Amino acid sequence: MSISRCDLLLRADIIVTQDAQRRIVEGGAVAIDGGTIIEVGPQAELDARWQAERSLDLGRKLVMPGLVNAHTHASMTVFRGVADDLPLMTWLTENIWPVEKALSKEIIHFGALLACAEMIRTGTTCFCDMYLMEAETARAVDEAGIRAVLGEGIFAFPSPAYAKTEDAWPIIEDLHARYKGHGRIRTAIMPHAVYTTTPEILKRSWELAQAHGCIWKTHLSESETETRTSLEQFGRRPLDYLESLGISGSKCVFAHCVDLTPEEMVRMAETGAHVVHCPQSNMKLTSGMARIEDLRRAGVNVCLGTDGAASNNDLNMFLEMNSAALLQKVRTMDPTALNAQAALDMATVNGAKALGWEELGCLEAGKAADLIALDLNQPNMLPLYNPVSHLAYAASGMEVCLTMVNGKILYEHGRYAAMDMDGLAREAVKVARWVKARAHKTN
Ligand SMILES: [Zn+2]
Repeated sequence: MSISRCDLLLRADIIVTQDAQRRIVEGGAVAIDGGTIIEVGPQAELDARWQAERSLDLGRKLVMPGLVNAHTHASMTVFRGVADDLPLMTWLTENIWPVEKALSKEIIHFGALLACAEMIRTGTTCFCDMYLMEAETARAVDEAGIRAVLGEGIFAFPSPAYAKTEDAWPIIEDLHARYKGHGRIRTAIMPHAVYTTTPEILKRSWELAQAHGCIWKTHLSESETETRTSLEQFGRRPLDYLESLGISGSKCVFAHCVDLTPEEMVRMAETGAHVVHCPQSNMKLTSGMARIEDLRRAGVNVCLGTDGAASNNDLNMFLEMNSAALLQKVRTMDPTALNAQAALDMATVNGAKALGWEELGCLEAGKAADLIALDLNQPNMLPLYNPVSHLAYAASGMEVCLTMVNGKILYEHGRYAAMDMDGLAREAVKVARWVKARAHKTN
């Protein structure tokens, strides 16, 4: 047997691969070269095959793919907890929109950095973000070392980034051009929702997504109210309306999808559209309970997202897996609904599929070296019968003791490689003062 060299050999007691067989390796190792995984398997086999520049013996840890948070508004971390427990429109019109209007590039950049720090800390290695002045989020992602798919939010009304929608298109083109070929950052086209845009905006955005071959993402069927508004404004339900404009297919990523008919679910499966379930945001804003089991049964690829920190109020995908599983059990009154493996799939491989980034979401040869390690000696992780059960039902995200993206360690035992957490904490005090002065009613 010949011995080949690699950059890093990482050993751990348990490796949850999330590969096609959902293989779990006890006493496993991962061989990494550059930003790519070259082999995953039993330690003895890999030790015999690979001569590593560096080896990392993690011991009593669980190594798994980094989580994919498929729906965020990262910079909304600056609104975390500023106003809770309010009706949606009061919350938006009195507390979020007046402050959003005044947001500066510096605050967006700070909010995005804070979001990256939280996601890296809690095991997310890739996120899909829609917000304002997204170039600032891209800058934060680049600095933090995390991976992301980013899109400027497109509205029919002014945003802090543009005075009129016409001015949004060059901003989107510029973002796309700037990050073309970037290893960790991809761009996408993201009109906000059917009720905040026009048919012309949606059509133009779709053409742009097709021209660039990137994903097209929007909030869709978030609540019954949205469906009613769509019927009043366009005479069609949201999905019908999009299809009437020629928008459908596997490049479509729809966040929420709470209010769908069984027939719409079948159509989504047929066209290959992807759904991002955001259970905590849906519960907090009382948008409703998405019928995820029905969607999965219909054959739709369903992944998972936290939504923004203002309506969650965290960006922690472990807690989101837990909520997703529990909420489906209550919705269906069936304890077998959305089991632990299904929740883990939504947070990993399904997210990668939705984002069209197939190198993510699982640990096997040829995939990106995006992985995390959890400390199995934390009290809430003991004893251990079934690792997948713990990931969905027992873990809090704070067991994450190592986060790696593209072969680089971004976080290890409380230390960030490229982020100044103390500096972010100091800045958060100033930003909170700024937000409070502009929101009408705060906690
Ligand atoms: Zn959202």
